[in-house]
Parts: sequence; C-alpha cells; structure tokens
Amino acid sequence: MSGTRRKRVWAVIATVCATLLVSLGLVQSATAAPGWPALSRGSGGADVAAAQYLLRSHGYDIAADSDFGPATENAVSAFQQSKGYGVDGMIGGETWPGLIVTVSQGDSGDAVAAAQSALNKFGYGLAVDGEFGSGTASAVTSFQSDKGLSADGIVGPDTWQNLLGQGGGGGGGGGDGSYSLPIPRDALSRDYYDSPHHDYPALDLPVGTGTPIYAVHSGVASQIDNDRCGIGYEVDGDDGAIYYFCHMSEHGVGSGERVDAGTQLGLSGNTGNSTGPHVHVEIEAGGANRCPQPMMLAIYDGSTPPAPGDLPTGGCIE
Ligand SMILES: [Zn+2]
Repeated sequence: MSGTRRKRVWAVIATVCATLLVSLGLVQSATAAPGWPALSRGSGGADVAAAQYLLRSHGYDIAADSDFGPATENAVSAFQQSKGYGVDGMIGGETWPGLIVTVSQGDSGDAVAAAQSALNKFGYGLAVDGEFGSGTASAVTSFQSDKGLSADGIVGPDTWQNLLGQGGGGGGGGGDGSYSLPIPRDALSRDYYDSPHHDYPALDLPVGTGTPIYAVHSGVASQIDNDRCGIGYEVDGDDGAIYYFCHMSEHGVGSGERVDAGTQLGLSGNTGNSTGPHVHVEIEAGGANRCPQPMMLAIYDGSTPPAPGDLPTGGCIE
C-alpha cells in the first residue's frame, strides 16, 4: 500500500469514527443547526416564554407567562397573517425565522428578554429584565463557544436557532431543554454531581449561601419549612417524579406555583438539619428514592437524562 493510499484509508476511518461519535451523541456537531421547536396551544416552558417576548417585541400585547394559551395563539395567527405566512396559530419552521430579532449589547426591550429567557435554559441565571448588559453579553459568548458558533456576542439567527428547542434549563446542558441542573453550571465542577450521599439515595451539592437554586423539571412547587429540610421545596414534576430541595436560605416561589426546568426557586443556605451551606437534592419516583447522580451528569453533559423511574435506587450511597 502506498503512503498516499494509507493516508486516505485512515482519513476514511477517522471520518467514519467522527460520524459514529456524532450519531452516538458523544461529540456535538458544530455545523448542524438544530431544528426550530414546534410550539402550539398547550405548549409550555422557556421556549414559549421566549416566543411570547418575541411576539411582544413585534407589538402583540400578550403576557410572557410560558403558557401557550388562546391569547398567544391569536397573536401568532395575527403575526403570521401580517407576514403572509400560512395562518395556523402554531410556531414552527416558517414562523420562527420571522419572529426572532437580532439583539446585541446595548439593546433593550422584549426581544432581549426573549434571549435572556432562552439563555437561562442553559444555566446562565440572568435577570430577564430586557437590558442587554455585560452579563448577558458574556452569557451569549460563552453559549456560542459551547456550541461551536462564532463567539461574537450577537444573538442572530444561528444563535437563536441553537438557543431554542434544546438545552438544559437553569443549570445548563440538557437533551431537550426540559431538565436543568439545580444550581448554576459554573458553581461546581462535574465531579460534584457524581458524589455519593450519606445514608440514602440523594445528592448534596456544597454551594455557598445565596446561590440560585433552580427547578430540575417543570411541575408544581410547594414550599417546605421544617426542622429536617429547613427552607426548601417539593416540586411535583410533570414527569411523575417528586423533586426535593433542602437547606435553602430563601423561598422565591409560592406554594402552588407552576415552575419550569430552570425556574429559580430561591437561594441556597444552611437551614434545617445541615452542617454547612449546601443544597440537598432528592428525587422520588415510583415510590422509591432514586439516585439523582446519573440524571445530573446527563444534564451537565448535555445529553438526554434517564427517566426518573429508570434511575437506580442504590449505589449512590457512601
Ligand atoms: Zn443531603
């Protein structure tokens, strides 16, 4: 075999390996932009909030409540009509490109709030205040480098397409945006999400008092305030699991309020039966305590987390 031919064979093998890794989800393809999410009546979550803010920026006076109801549907239909699109009241591949607005540092308004809301799915914990300041700018460049986009700090079509329809919630990285790390992604390194817990399946994340705590999955929050958990939350998840967060310093969400993955529940602390500032995370599914570790690692890695009922009930204990 000649040298040239050998090189060519290796190049083919390397290409096949790269293709395999991409198809297995082991490495992210930098070139393939994800599809636009399809949103319609009944949809909820951060992408809906982003769409609502974008509709507001086009002059439709609707609430950005993350809930795709009749008012949102009417606004979408009116927007589609104004653009000459097919009018179906749903936001898909034709409507998104017209709806997004390019924003960059110094801009303000609802389109900026839309970008902030979408960025928070990836763990940036930005105030959704519609002011594109330096905090939002550094979140954008960090997101762009993570996705292999040119890190210019401008939220244009490519960045929008990567922001919408995927990504983990508040904590960052997650298969489809429906799960979030419970703390900002940069608060702790990956190892911490794999740490065993004492006595029973759970996870302790040692973060200083005042760290934002995020809902891992959408559901209904209930405040906890007792000697054991201290200030905390129970979130009855839409995935059938119950998520507990303990030892916080402050409640930020009322009992009975709906939360999305990445919604800030409050701030971490050292209340209840706790020997130092940390957040205790517990997941109950199918009547058993589950190890949060495999779910947290998947969210951290940006892959699709296992269903709560598939999480192990042992093996995460010291
Ligand atoms: Zn604990």
